[in-house]
Amino acid sequence: MALFDSKQKVIANYQKQIDDKVRAINSYHDQIGRLYYAQYTDMNVDVTKEINQRCDNITGLKKDIEDLEIKILYEKGLKRCPVCRTENHLEYDFCYKCGTKFDATATAAAVEVKPEAPVEVAVAEVAPVVSDEAAKAADEVVEAGDAVVSEAISDGEAPAEA
Ligand SMILES: [Zn+2]
Repeated sequence: MALFDSKQKVIANYQKQIDDKVRAINSYHDQIGRLYYAQYTDMNVDVTKEINQRCDNITGLKKDIEDLEIKILYEKGLKRCPVCRTENHLEYDFCYKCGTKFDATATAAAVEVKPEAPVEVAVAEVAPVVSDEAAKAADEVVEAGDAVVSEAISDGEAPAEA
């Protein structure tokens, strides 16, 4: 039982590291959005270097997260197929789903390969579209929000007295 608890602690610690890194990634995404917008509104601003630097940081964090996920799986007696990413028991020689033969180097290599381009693509394509629509949506939310908030307050007070 004590062994089980300490394993849970190790896993929780890895999970906390993952959560921190996810937060950092979200923060970088916010910063990239702001940088992009600054450039969008002022053509004299060139933030390419700043944006690329944050994209690289995100890519690095994603790799770290993959590594931590592998460690968590290992603690649970599992490993991930490098081809189909299905979780398998550590002792399996072949992926039970796709039949890929496991070996330590293949698993490690697969972890390195996965997270490359999608971040930059997503930011470049989504940001300008989102900024327009988000602005409209935000206005609507503000208008609708006043009604919702006053409703919520009046709803909230009644049961408190009862
Ligand atoms: Zn597989």
